[in-house]
This record gives sequence, C-alpha cells and structure tokens, in this order.
Amino acid sequence: MHENYSLPIWNHDRKPPQKSANYWTCRRGVAFVLILGSLLQASVSSATSLSTTSSKTNALSIESNLDLVKKPFPLPPSRKPNNPNLIPNPSAESVQSSNSTLPSGGWDSVANTNSAVTYALVNPGHTGARAFNVSIQTYGGGEAFWKYPPQSVTPGKTYEFSDAYISDTNTAVWLYLIDKNGTETVRWLGDTYKSPDWNRFYGQFTVPEDVVSVGVYHSISSKGFLITDDYNLDEYAPLPLHRPLVSLSFDDGLAPVYSNALPLLQKFHFLSTQFLPTGFIDQKGRFTRSMVQDFSRYGHEVASHSVTHPFLTNFTKDQLDQEFMQSQQQIFSITGIRPTSLATPYGAYNPTVIKEASNYFQFVRNVNVGFNSRDNADSFDIKVQNITASTTINDIKTWVSAAKRDRTWLVLVYHNVSDDVTNAGFFNTPPGELERHFQLIQASGIAVLPINQAATELKAQSFSIGKWD
Ligand SMILES: [Zn+2]
Repeated sequence: MHENYSLPIWNHDRKPPQKSANYWTCRRGVAFVLILGSLLQASVSSATSLSTTSSKTNALSIESNLDLVKKPFPLPPSRKPNNPNLIPNPSAESVQSSNSTLPSGGWDSVANTNSAVTYALVNPGHTGARAFNVSIQTYGGGEAFWKYPPQSVTPGKTYEFSDAYISDTNTAVWLYLIDKNGTETVRWLGDTYKSPDWNRFYGQFTVPEDVVSVGVYHSISSKGFLITDDYNLDEYAPLPLHRPLVSLSFDDGLAPVYSNALPLLQKFHFLSTQFLPTGFIDQKGRFTRSMVQDFSRYGHEVASHSVTHPFLTNFTKDQLDQEFMQSQQQIFSITGIRPTSLATPYGAYNPTVIKEASNYFQFVRNVNVGFNSRDNADSFDIKVQNITASTTINDIKTWVSAAKRDRTWLVLVYHNVSDDVTNAGFFNTPPGELERHFQLIQASGIAVLPINQAATELKAQSFSIGKWD
C-alpha cells in the first residue's frame, strides 16, 4: 500500500491502447496491473445541516446520522433509443454468405495483441440466436474485440453507445474517432466489470470537430471471455435540466493545485470540489491541513478520495468501511464539515464498492465519460469528462457547448495544475491552459457549482420527473 504514496499521478489513468507502447510498458514496470484501469472518482455529499455546529456535537452525530445520506437518485428508466441504430447487424443475427463464422454488416475480428484469441458467434444471445464472443486463452498484451465499420456521425452532436454483455473479467469500451484526413484517434469511453449475468453498458460522447466517423468497440485485454449482443449507437438528446451546470473537480490534493489553481478559481469566482486521499494530507507535494482549511473556508467542497488511494475493487467490505469512514472523519476533523461526495481512486469500482460507499456518501463521482441529465442521472455514477495532457481547448469548447445546448451537467476532472514540465505527467494541466478553460466556461454563462450542490440541484429535478421510483 505504501508504495502507492509515491506513484506519480499519471499512473492514475491509461492512454489509448495502440499508441502508447512506452506508457504500457512503464505501467507494467511499476506493477500497475490495472489493464482496465481508469479513474473512478466519486463524490458524496451529506447533510449540510451538520456543517456548522460544534465539532464535538458533529463528531458524535456522524454515525447516528448516516441514514440521512443514504438516499440515492432514483434510477432512471432504461432509455429507449429514439433514433436509428447506427450499428449494422447489431445482434449478429445474420451472417456473411461466404463465411458463416462472420456476422454480416462488415463485422470482423480484431486483435491488437499477441494473445491467443478465439472469436465465435455463440447461441443463444441476449436476444435472438446469436451473440459475439471473444475469449483470450493466453494474454500477451493489447486488446481484442469484434469490430464493425466506423459509421458517419455529425461533429458537435452527442451519441449514446450501449451493448449487452457477460464477461468473466474486466473489459473496456473504446471510441475510434476518424477525422476528415482519415486520422484515427482512440479514446477510452468506459470500463465494465466482470458480470456473470447479462448487464448493459451505457456511454455517451460528443463528436469532436473534424471527426467524420466513429466506431465504438467493447474489448477484452486479459485472460477470459467477453460475450456481447444487442449493440446500439444512436444520436442522443438528453432530457434537459432546468439549467446547464458545470463542476470543476480536482483529484489527489496536490500542492500545486493550491498555489496555481486556487488563485484562478478565486479570480473567476468558481467554487470547486477537491477530492482528497486523506492519508496523504501533510505529505510532501500534497495539501497541508491549512491548505485544506483554506479551500473549505473559501467555500470549495472538500470531499473524500479514500484514505490510502487503493484499488477499492481489491478490498474487503471491512477495508472499504475503513477507507470511507476514516476519510470522512479526517475531513470532518479538519474542516468541520462532513463530506458527502466520494471519488473512487483510479475509477475502480464494482457493486460492493458502491454499496459500501452508499453507507457514507450521497454522491459518487466515477470517471465514466458522459454528461449528467435528468434521464441518465445516477447519484453513484456521476459522469465526467477527464482532462489529460491530450485534452485540447476544442474539447473543452465542445463539452461546454454541448452542456449548454442540451442543458446537462458537465463535470470536469483535473489532477495536477503546474508549469513544471519535468513533473507534469499525463494528468497535468498548465495554469495558462486552465485559465483558458475557465474563460470559456465563464463566457458560456453556465453556473459553476461544487459537485454536492450541482448533484443536489439535479436530484431535485430527477425526483420531479415522477416516473422514477
Ligand atoms: Zn486519484
């Protein structure tokens, strides 16, 4: 556990699968086995009424008031696609006349890997007689997946991808974006966790400028199998909020965020959410207690990012309880406010993690990509856009305009904010760049709120739909 303390923050995520040989090697070199690693952050807000009473009273109240924070957003009804499905032969129900092992519609098998891989159509499927199976017998790196030809899309529009899946290992969903020059860019859309029963993955994305076609592929990159079926990709119009919202979240409590980002937040009068691994407070390069107090005093949300920044998916129920309870208590002891938001380290979660987190937190921010709207709001899976070294100003523009147009809640995930290039890493944003992001957000006129406040606003509207539980 202790070695995690010194890991540079760029270890928190991964880059696209094919363009990062060095990155992968590097990660494996530090025994960072998270093939499917990503950032999951969660944020939970608890009863603000506890926030300003005496510390003694609050300390005693923490356990007895836990029930106040257990109510999640009502789960949305599963969305019925209302636009044409762009994926050909999405359930593999027809096969090529010349080769009955391949689905028609241009589907093919792809392995960017040295693994021993088997592709097959299996019977029955989630629906119908067939489903796509890809299994890896011996893993040798890279990814394997079934692939259909990329389909034409419109820049600036938002699409939703979903598929039904069963797997005995963790898997991931990738966007292959092809621009007008034919250049392909790969972006992570989300992870799925092993699921012995049929489950459904949902991911949303807004098409960047200049991109003309997109393929979304569900891949496996470890020993095991992945069966998929009933793919859907369609243009998605979220059910709008009363007003669009933006949240700025910063993970890991890195000292440069205090010196470089806080002055900008103050200049723009933006309140952020700071997700802290509380075991790191006062360690070299991290927030000191007084920095944490400053953020809290200025009105920023100080929230939990666990105590030790572990892969929570490897933890027992008791260990999870320790991470959640202690981080909550440590933040309370520093700020006098009990945090109600959690961000899961590395974005690693499963149903057990979420269930335990719900005993302590109201809102969980993960790193699954998307916009939060009235029809997809999940208080334990707040969707985000992750800011990395490869994020461009155009990406920010695209996300902000999509949030404004669709009246959704956009949550940005930042890590370090520094000009120190030697120490910058994949998750760094230079202060000058951050200022440009803030200028765009300010120019959009969208309200900027900490995660707990935005989530509370959204939650009220979600309830108002009525058809939710
Ligand atoms: Zn983190």
